[in-house]
Amino acid sequence: MKGFSKNPIMITKISAQKQSTKTAWQRELRHAIHNPVQLLELLKLSDTELTVIAKQRFGLRVPRGYVARMRQCDQSDPLLLQVLPRAKEQEQLQGFSLDPVSDRTAEKIPGLLHKYHGRVLLMTTGACAIHCRYCFRQHYHYAACPPIPNPAALDYIRADASIREVILSGGDPLVLIDSRLAENAHHLASIPHIQRLRLHTRLPIILPERVNDELLTWLTGTRLQPVIVVHANHANEIDEEVNQALQKLVKAGVSVLNQSVLLRGINDNATALIALSEALFNSHVLPYYLHVLDRVQGAAHFEVPEKKAIQLLEQMQAALPGYLVPKLVREVAGMGYKQPLL
Ligand SMILES: *Cc1c(COP(=O)(O)O)cnc(C)c1O
Ligand code: SF4
Repeated sequence: MKGFSKNPIMITKISAQKQSTKTAWQRELRHAIHNPVQLLELLKLSDTELTVIAKQRFGLRVPRGYVARMRQCDQSDPLLLQVLPRAKEQEQLQGFSLDPVSDRTAEKIPGLLHKYHGRVLLMTTGACAIHCRYCFRQHYHYAACPPIPNPAALDYIRADASIREVILSGGDPLVLIDSRLAENAHHLASIPHIQRLRLHTRLPIILPERVNDELLTWLTGTRLQPVIVVHANHANEIDEEVNQALQKLVKAGVSVLNQSVLLRGINDNATALIALSEALFNSHVLPYYLHVLDRVQGAAHFEVPEKKAIQLLEQMQAALPGYLVPKLVREVAGMGYKQPLL
């Protein structure tokens, strides 16, 4: 790769890790639950209480540590409802599409989205540690995205000096092994106009074991300023282990922000949203965005009316310091930034 100088010490250290047996987070991921019946059994629920569907594509996937944060015998548990495939997903509603935010048009070269000034988004993998039923990228054509480091994407970034920030997304970039992520970070750091490396990841919330020393080493080991935007929707997602993981990132010098999706039956009440902001800040994380649902096919039952969304945000403003109120936004295809609702 052009302009890339390897750090031999770091590469050796990480490949030793790669050859050793699987790390804690990889073992956890391997033992994730895929069978809805098994999940309901663990929660002492019978599937007659919930209409569950077995799905081939984008099936159930949830690590056991996340299941442990769900309440037993509660079919309305806000964590359970985020992951359990329900019959309602099969309803096809007008206005709900496969690519609700026009990612296809923003894809300048395979695996690189350039929608907004100054930042590009790299699709690093299609995989995630959890399958969120409302995910707006659940139908994305990941198979066509090249692995990172992606030479064509690096050429694109190198050729455009207006790009200051690179966002690793997917899927979830932190399901990739650290050696690959470290190599990618070093390529990016060799491009003079890049200032920041941002990760959009749910792993610190879903699998806090993922925040290990190998991750911190490469993330804070280049001249790039590291930013992590995690994704939590409910305070119950943040238990003591998650709290520790988030604080570890902050202590290592990473700016940590959170984005949430406003979801019917999960966090569409002021009490839940306020508790989430408080729990995040308790872990030294600032709320960044509260997204209204992207209208992806299969997720219509999660949508909260716009009027209600605005009322909820006003209730948050009345109860919290300004820095604990996220921006309520909607992504509108073709617009130069995420659109605030108020
Ligand atoms: C949301 C998004 C970003 C990040 O937007 P910010 O407002 O900077 O958080 C960047 N690129 C794409 C394609 C996005 O969808
Ligand atoms: S972790 Fe993010 S990308 Fe993955 S399924 Fe959930 S919302 Fe989608």
